[in-house]
Order: sequence, then C-alpha cells, then structure tokens
Amino acid sequence: MHEMSLAVSIVELVSDKAQAAGARKVTAIELEVGRLSGLMVEALAFCFEAAARNTPAEGAELLIRELGGRGSCLACGHSFAVDSLLGQCPQCGGYAVETVQGRELKVLSLTVDE
Ligand SMILES: [Zn+2]
Repeated sequence: MHEMSLAVSIVELVSDKAQAAGARKVTAIELEVGRLSGLMVEALAFCFEAAARNTPAEGAELLIRELGGRGSCLACGHSFAVDSLLGQCPQCGGYAVETVQGRELKVLSLTVDE
C-alpha cells in the first residue's frame, strides 16, 4: 500500500527531527496533503498509527491540512482551481493544463515533548 510506505517515511523523518531537537516524544504532527495526491487521508492516518508504534512518534496526533488543486493553462496562462489531474481551462477550453498545486505531501510542523 502506497500510504504505508509514506507513513513509514513520515515516522522516520519526525523521529529524526525529534532526536535532533533532544525531544523524547512527538505529540503532534501537522501535515499538508494535496487533494490531487491520490492519498486516502483515513488510510494514511491508520498506517501512521501502526508505523509509529515503538518510535518517538507513537501516539502523536496527526493534523491533516488538505490543499485544493490548482492548474495553470499552458496556452493562455490562466490559473484556476482543478479537482482532477485532467483539467480543462475554463477560459480558452484548452487541455494543456499544468498542475501547480495539489500533489504535495509535506510535514508542516511538529510539536514535541522534551
Ligand atoms: Zn487557457
């Protein structure tokens, strides 16, 4: 499952950061997930819980901020909200649309207990 490998990467990243900061425990993790990333937020939260077991991130609260998709038309330069990777430009009707936002998965911040 895609979500599981991502959950493991997130746990590794935050555990490293917590250790570097001299913290024993991560209490909350703020994540940014793009709506076009194809990730199931519930599945990610579930996998995270499993992946965090016996690590400093165990029991940490996962705060997920969903980010809407945005596309930019390569033909006319118009920028607009999109809800799929196959968007059509509402201004010129073109299909040459570059996705400029919505595919990200980022750790925005960590809260640690020292
Ligand atoms: Zn256009």
